[in-house]
Amino acid sequence: MVPPAEIIRFLKTRNNFLIATHLNPDGDGLGSAVALSMALRQLGKKTLLFCKDPVPKQCRYLPGQDEFQPFEALPSPEMKGYTLILVDCNDITRIHTDKTFLSALQCDASAVIDHHETEKRFGDERWIDPSSPATGLMIYHLVGELGAEMTEAMAANLYAAIAVDTGNFRHENTDAEVLRVAAGLVEKGANPTTAYRQLFESWTDGRFCLFLRVINTVDIREDISFVSVTQEMFRETSTTPDETDNFVDFPRIMERIAVSVFLRETGEGRFKVSLRSKGEVNVAKVAMALGGGGHRNAAGCTMEGDQDSIKTRLLEMIRPLVSRS
Ligand code: 5GP
Ligand code: MN
Repeated sequence: MVPPAEIIRFLKTRNNFLIATHLNPDGDGLGSAVALSMALRQLGKKTLLFCKDPVPKQCRYLPGQDEFQPFEALPSPEMKGYTLILVDCNDITRIHTDKTFLSALQCDASAVIDHHETEKRFGDERWIDPSSPATGLMIYHLVGELGAEMTEAMAANLYAAIAVDTGNFRHENTDAEVLRVAAGLVEKGANPTTAYRQLFESWTDGRFCLFLRVINTVDIREDISFVSVTQEMFRETSTTPDETDNFVDFPRIMERIAVSVFLRETGEGRFKVSLRSKGEVNVAKVAMALGGGGHRNAAGCTMEGDQDSIKTRLLEMIRPLVSRS
């Protein structure tokens, strides 16, 4: 993978960057943003890191993650002199939901570095590679092309980014190139055991209780599995929405399950939907048709209605994809 010369030139010729990643941030967005920020600082640039939602607990072990600020901390909504870089997303509405805020945010220019299949037209400079397993892999190559040194802190962030988006190197997007880059990052100081433990085995007791409840909601219809979480379950277990990360992966353990769906209640009659599939079943198409997006085997969107009608609608959309594959 070679980063386009235009993006290298774009980054080298500018001085102040506002680096932002998506809502409900994950290890790929967060790790990629921090590593990019560290590389740019080595070149003498000024960088600020933003995310609307807090860094989830499992990513807080990574150096530099404490630098993320909410957008309310911007010196002013008008960020003249700054270049906005969206990392691990390619549409401005993925970093904030408030349209008034987004139209007030006035940077000099903008760039997008992302690997999502579902593209929007945002950004003056765009590097979007849907064949890349993680944005972290793209940043790895970008660091080299920028002539920055891969420090231990950057290596830990990029290893985490790649580990998260490949499901710790086991999803369909795991190939020889990913494993070679991961090996390179381990040589630079990333620790695979620390990363795995922190990212995947650092649950609190409350999170485990929540998991038990969520798993008990399992509803298998044909070869499609549904699990769900309500706001009441969060209250009862003293947990937060970011603690449901990976829950959607578990029903896939059943061999016959082709698609696993997770419904997270975000408000009255409103659900965040996570979709996971195996092989050729492209759930990004379903998410996109519902106003969301993602990748072939991992995508998401927001839906309104009661759980039952949402499940029925999803079933109707997913069924033809599964029977065709
Ligand atoms: P998750 O289900 O873990 O929230 O997201 C799975 C993948 O789909 C991630 O790559 C995420 O960025 C993407 N995704 C989730 N929800 C949305 C959404 O509402 N819009 C778009 N464009 N992408 C989403
Ligand atoms: Mn990603």
